[in-house]
Amino acid sequence: MSSHDPATRLAIINESIARAADLAKRRSGDVTLIAVSKTQTAEAILPLLAAGQRDFGENRVQEAETKWPALREDYPDTVLHLIGQLQSNKAEEAVALFDGIHSVDRSSLVAALARAMDKTGRRPTCFIQVNIGDEGQKGGCAIDGLAALLAEARVAGLPIAGLMAIPPAMVDAAPYFALLAKIARDHGLAGLSMGMSGDFETAVTIGATHVRVGTALFGARA
Ligand SMILES: *Cc1c(COP(=O)(O)O)cnc(C)c1O
Repeated sequence: MSSHDPATRLAIINESIARAADLAKRRSGDVTLIAVSKTQTAEAILPLLAAGQRDFGENRVQEAETKWPALREDYPDTVLHLIGQLQSNKAEEAVALFDGIHSVDRSSLVAALARAMDKTGRRPTCFIQVNIGDEGQKGGCAIDGLAALLAEARVAGLPIAGLMAIPPAMVDAAPYFALLAKIARDHGLAGLSMGMSGDFETAVTIGATHVRVGTALFGARA
């Protein structure tokens, strides 16, 4: 796969998503492929834009601010997703730039995002990130803290679409995807941001609405 050009890789990944959706009796149109363009240059991103890809993911506000305003002049219908940890003091910049924020994981950030949305009048779609493998060093709210955080986010008026998680590395992700899907269902949430280069097809069969794919599209990051 790595020998192909980016547009061909994109087509292959879209086919894989369609096949996985079909297996699960889902519509592939209900799955959004987020091309994770962190560390990639505008030159690397442009072929994907030219091939029709519109949803992109970045993990740092500042890096996204240096790349995307210029790219968006030519592709104004680009949909930008923040998939990395967000500091509360960057909430306003994030709300101004991104259309989706997948890393809402604590009260202080909920409050900062609510203030930023009031101030800017923009309301990016939010996902609450869950620390699904209960890993000490990982971002995301604890599973048993989710109900309270979700209630706070709803009171604050954040448009919460669903849940996001990054399962533990080096083990089968499927049980973690299934757990995230169950928790989302229990809370009446339809959105599931889960699945990366190594496991996006599995995630689609388990209900992912957003898969975040970097390496399989762009090749290994430097
Ligand atoms: C980098 C990253 C991805 C993409 O990972 P790949 O393995 O390169 O597809 C997905 N989600 C998050 C949160 C990331 O930081």
